[in-house]
Amino acid sequence: MPNIRFRALETVLTRTTPDVKVPSQKISDYYGTNVFDMQKMKDYLSKDAYQSIITAIEKGEPIQRDMAEHVATAMKSWAISKGATHYTHWFQPLTGTTAEKHDAFFEPTADGGAIEVFSGDALAQQEPDASSFPSGGIRNTFEARGYTAWDPSSPAFLMARTLCIPTVFVSYTGEALDYKVPLLKALNALDKAAVDVCHYFDKSVEKVNASLGIEQEYFLVDSALFNARPDLYLTGRTLFGHMSAKNQQLEDHYFGSIPSRVYAFMQDMETEALLLGIPLKTRHNEVAPSQFECAPIYEEINLAIDHNQLLMDIMDRVAKKHNFQVLLHEKPYAGINGSGKHNNWSMITNTGKNLLSPGKTPKNNLMFLTFFVNTIKAVYEHADLLRASIASVNNDHRLGANEAPPAIISIFLGSQLTDLLDEIETSRISKKIKDDALLWQGIPKIPQILKDNTDRNRTSPFAFTGNKFELRAVGSSANSASPMTVLNTIVADQLKKFKYDVDKILKKGEKKDLALLMVLKKYIKESKSIRFEGNGYSDEWEKEAEARGLANIRTTPKALDAMVTEKSEILFAETGVYTRREAHARHEILLESFYKKLQIEARVIGDMVVNIIIPAALAYQSKLIENARGLKDLGLDASTYKVQIDIINQLAEHINFIKTNVEQMVDERKKANKIEDVREKAIAYDEKVKSFFQPIRYHVDKLEQIVDDSIWPLPKFRELLFVK
Ligand code: ADP
Ligand code: MG
Repeated sequence: MPNIRFRALETVLTRTTPDVKVPSQKISDYYGTNVFDMQKMKDYLSKDAYQSIITAIEKGEPIQRDMAEHVATAMKSWAISKGATHYTHWFQPLTGTTAEKHDAFFEPTADGGAIEVFSGDALAQQEPDASSFPSGGIRNTFEARGYTAWDPSSPAFLMARTLCIPTVFVSYTGEALDYKVPLLKALNALDKAAVDVCHYFDKSVEKVNASLGIEQEYFLVDSALFNARPDLYLTGRTLFGHMSAKNQQLEDHYFGSIPSRVYAFMQDMETEALLLGIPLKTRHNEVAPSQFECAPIYEEINLAIDHNQLLMDIMDRVAKKHNFQVLLHEKPYAGINGSGKHNNWSMITNTGKNLLSPGKTPKNNLMFLTFFVNTIKAVYEHADLLRASIASVNNDHRLGANEAPPAIISIFLGSQLTDLLDEIETSRISKKIKDDALLWQGIPKIPQILKDNTDRNRTSPFAFTGNKFELRAVGSSANSASPMTVLNTIVADQLKKFKYDVDKILKKGEKKDLALLMVLKKYIKESKSIRFEGNGYSDEWEKEAEARGLANIRTTPKALDAMVTEKSEILFAETGVYTRREAHARHEILLESFYKKLQIEARVIGDMVVNIIIPAALAYQSKLIENARGLKDLGLDASTYKVQIDIINQLAEHINFIKTNVEQMVDERKKANKIEDVREKAIAYDEKVKSFFQPIRYHVDKLEQIVDDSIWPLPKFRELLFVK
């Protein structure tokens, strides 16, 4: 019988491209059909009930019990009319995925019949048995009482025949157990702080919303090949594999034409997403073979993140229907590009003004400059925390690996804005200027064509791109709530400080514009070292960054330290985003997840080496031995089987190496497992256990190059990347 690799390859060759049906040629005909959005709420609710819900959502106020009852009834009617039988609270625990617990609407009645029920209480709150979600010691298992509570700011939606209600997930003592609670708190803090600062310029602003557009990169691989690779289906990445002769050298994949099976998948996936109100707009090939990207139009941040989490689910589900597997791992294949999730972020007022969009008049420019410079200052002050927010075992493969933004946080502005800030920094703005006209000369004009002019520096982790900042260092499988909570928190905190600094000068009787400019000038000077326009992948930058005093923390266990420093504690307390206990719990959960993932990878490496790779190498070695012995038995000269003997020896060398190194790795694992302190344990896994991965892989990949292709049992990179 042929080995699993060849059976998988045969399967792939029989694949056909399925016909994809779209509900209508016009997307507007079906966009949002499966969402209980404002329009549907209006249709299903009384006028009064609708109005009070809208007001509560806009003001972020709690929804009264009788109103919840109305909404529940309306949701139920809508969902049942669309064939739903169950409902679930949909939430984002710290496992990184989404979670659901389905309950049926159906309830038996006393007379032996049944009715469909859904009460306001069931909408508002649910108690999943939460004892097995990570809580970092906040919730001991004996008090397993986490509960989920409705988040009315994100609309309910229908997945298959289940009504999904976006919720937050908190412990019964009120501590956050999910990604959404701290995000909502951070957004709230930003709203308050930004509105206060807006009032220097425009008293009519009542609310500031952060917006987010997430570009999502991913790989596709045929499911038959995927299932023939235990490393892929257990860890999401290939732990072995010699690089394909052709990979991304020719750069012929990027923006190239999309293969037909992939195109069918994309259409199907987009239809599902659009039905759920996810405004997917773009799709294209990425740089690496079999790598793709999709991006929706930006939305209010909480919704954008719910949508991205949902999108990852949809991608996974739809791909399986097309006999594909989606790889959201940050680095599925060593040697070619990994995947990220670019987070495009801006702040927009209820009056529709993007605070990061330069204006036409100097007055507007001052408002833009205020939010622009404060964002830079915030990132400068808390770069370590932003770095921590994107740290994960997967992302460690990308950051600093010469293809993704480096682990050094810096900001790219483009030459025009760099010049502008330099000009302000060196201008003679000071208290001595009493004449308004003179003062305004101190504010250079920002040319209008800025957006098209912002240079495309792809190597920066945090780049200004015309009217938004783009955080590019986020991992492709991450929940963006983690970095977005930090970004919004630090900007909120910075804006509060800014207001304090400006008000202090105003109290001395200075003019407002002068006060604003003086503080901005000071911030520009103070935060200068975080700005970098050059090549972030270069060695020179590493040296320069070090000289500038910027941190370059390459690995997760140490990067995470920033979450629990005194400085961060103060920040989180002042903004109300995390209590000390919550921050420490999260820190612990992240460290735990880090070492557990490495533990799994180490075990998979051990199993595959011993059970799959060594047997394949020995099988080939036996063939060679048989062959050489046959030649010898024929009485032929030793020179006729010299090559065979050479290969037999090479095989023995590599087999010996991987076998002994796996044993040593297991010993290191045993030692690491005994360590009690979770940070120390994570570091031991990172520095001791993980250090065996690369050398073992090197020798396995050598074996792959030597062993008879017909014996090699694992689909090769060329097959994973190019056969579909
Ligand atoms: P770029 O090519 O500069 O990355 P795109 O126009 O392709 O920009 O947008 C990338 C993502 O950024 C999209 O999701 C888009 O909706 C989003 N985006 C555009 N403007 C904003 C903004 N003001 N705030 C947040 N996201 C934005
Ligand atoms: Mg972009």
